[in-house]
Amino acid sequence: MTNPETITHDVIIVGAGLAGSWAAMVAARQGVRDIGVLSKIHPLRSHSGAAQGGIAASLSNVRPVANTGPRGPLEAVPPGAEPPDSWELHMFDTIKGSDWLGDQDAIEVMVQEAPDIIYEYEHMGCVFSRLADGRIAQRRFGGHSAPRANYSKDYTGHVLLHTIHEQALKHGVKFYSEWSLLELIVEDNICRGVVAMEILTGKVHTMRAKAVMFGTGGYGRAFKITSNAYANTGDGVSIAYNAGVPLMDMEFVQFHPTGLYRHGILMSEACRGEGGYLTNKDGHRFMEKYAPDKMELAPRDLVSRSEQTEINEGRGVGPDGQGVYLDLRHLGREKILERLPQVRDLAIEFVGVDPIDAPVPIQPTAHYSMGGIPTDVNGQAIADAAGTPIVGLYAAGECACVSVHGANRLGTNSLLEASLFGRRAGYAIADFIKNGAELQPVSGDPAEGQRQRIRKMLDNPGTESVDKIAQTLKQTMTDNCGIFRNEARLKVALQDVKTLQARFQNARTMDKGSRFNTDLLTTIETEHLLNFSEVLVTGALARTESRGAHSRTDYPKRDDTDWLKHTVAHKGADGPVLSYKSVNIDFDRYPPQERKY
Ligand SMILES: Cc1cc2nc3c(=O)[nH]c(=O)nc-3n(C[C@H](O)[C@H](O)[C@H](O)COP(=O)(O)OP(=O)(O)OC[C@H]3O[C@@H](n4cnc5c(N)ncnc54)[C@H](O)[C@@H]3O)c2cc1C
Repeated sequence: MTNPETITHDVIIVGAGLAGSWAAMVAARQGVRDIGVLSKIHPLRSHSGAAQGGIAASLSNVRPVANTGPRGPLEAVPPGAEPPDSWELHMFDTIKGSDWLGDQDAIEVMVQEAPDIIYEYEHMGCVFSRLADGRIAQRRFGGHSAPRANYSKDYTGHVLLHTIHEQALKHGVKFYSEWSLLELIVEDNICRGVVAMEILTGKVHTMRAKAVMFGTGGYGRAFKITSNAYANTGDGVSIAYNAGVPLMDMEFVQFHPTGLYRHGILMSEACRGEGGYLTNKDGHRFMEKYAPDKMELAPRDLVSRSEQTEINEGRGVGPDGQGVYLDLRHLGREKILERLPQVRDLAIEFVGVDPIDAPVPIQPTAHYSMGGIPTDVNGQAIADAAGTPIVGLYAAGECACVSVHGANRLGTNSLLEASLFGRRAGYAIADFIKNGAELQPVSGDPAEGQRQRIRKMLDNPGTESVDKIAQTLKQTMTDNCGIFRNEARLKVALQDVKTLQARFQNARTMDKGSRFNTDLLTTIETEHLLNFSEVLVTGALARTESRGAHSRTDYPKRDDTDWLKHTVAHKGADGPVLSYKSVNIDFDRYPPQERKY
């Protein structure tokens, strides 16, 4: 191919968050010279940088003070003392958190390698919060039975992302900042490259590569109230799905219990990890009713449902009764300023409440996408339920589904997953290239196909507003495919998604220019939201049970006889075609049990 607009690299990585940056850095360090990383926003604005509370690993640096109960103070573990935590404990907590839908072989890899990834960050200069003796500090997090969240105040994602971005630059990785992925090229089950647009100029390029990796992040922006960055519109999963790649377990969306009331901006789980209370309008710590042992530190699915029940039964706060309170006052000024400075600023800025003086109104917020592109533990993308690899295509981080989180992710396991499976993908990609992978031919002119698609969008004289379509979608997804679901509501959601897809055909992009056309980008992102939302709702409608974050009021029980399996969705002519894949369970060691906290 001699087209001057075609760009070639050995490796193209889409996404500059932790998953993509780790993979790029490791592959470069392993000797792959020619790596390009695309990010539609500045790499350091990737959502990984917004993570607050911590990254899990069983370092055993701190332990609860004896006889002070599950929420008592923590102390440094003296040298030589029995380690209070282990990878086995981390593994059990993660499996239980996942409601037994997590693949146990993948979970085992993650929890065993977790301490090593923390030490690798440390050796690269990452500024963790420390104990008095210099070891890395740790705090409690929901669903974890030992304090194993390693953190840097409440700026953990920021320090991790800066560390790894610097290292990627040092190893010569080329970043395409503000380039937007438009298409993934897969023919005959072999990945051949991508098509992307340089946002500044509007120029569209075919980018060929021997290996492509997606680290494109989550899809929380399909919901009205979300903690996710504006960029988290699920482009990667939607584009992969269009290329024939399946999506797995898309119906599992995590709602975080503490988003700022009406905004959804995150108040880190570290607020509860440090001892914060949740109260209703009567000042009652309602978690007593729902999770008497773990209280506020039960896992997120359970706490969000408890809050929503309080709200639905009329015990909410705020003008519309749609909030509850997060009360941090008893932690005291000093601890709040030392451990939670960012969330304090966010509360002051967005709801006008200083957590030092008053309880903060909060509500559940769409937070994390458990589903995504199915992969093995080396980031290799999988084409079907039988496990056939898609040659040259890799994925890691929130856009992937390994699956370590199953039906519900535990807090701090995601920064871990993105870093660790990003790193593993980096090694796998380096091996693939060094073992003689070649550039594969591309048929036709994919870039021209995308130029025509964009031209059609810009020329559409339609009467519909893209923004209205996106807002209507977010509203119906929140109302009908949110924390509590049932058949009637899910059918409404599915019908709404289809109607909105049809209306989108008649939608107008107002800005017709080519330079930095953010209006065009919003149109493209809205098309992605409509595309994967159909998969999400279809999977949720089919799954007639309640498991983890998927809670069906018409099927309130977990059903291991029929539903202990992953949903796999392929794109068909009339919508998603579902099949199912068994969960990898070690029935001797970790057989399914009832999940109680
Ligand atoms: C507010 C908040 C706080 C969190 N706190 C924690 C925490 O304390 N602990 C924890 O474990 N987890 C936390 N999480 C979750 C965790 O941060 C994410 O799951 C993780 O960082 C995802 O990393 P990633 O590399 O997969 O994706 P991201 O960091 O989201 O990066 C996605 C990348 O893909 C690029 N991209 C996407 N679409 C395109 C496109 N079309 N073209 C080009 N590039 C594209 C983006 O530009 C970006 O670079 C938090 C999440 C949020 C929202």
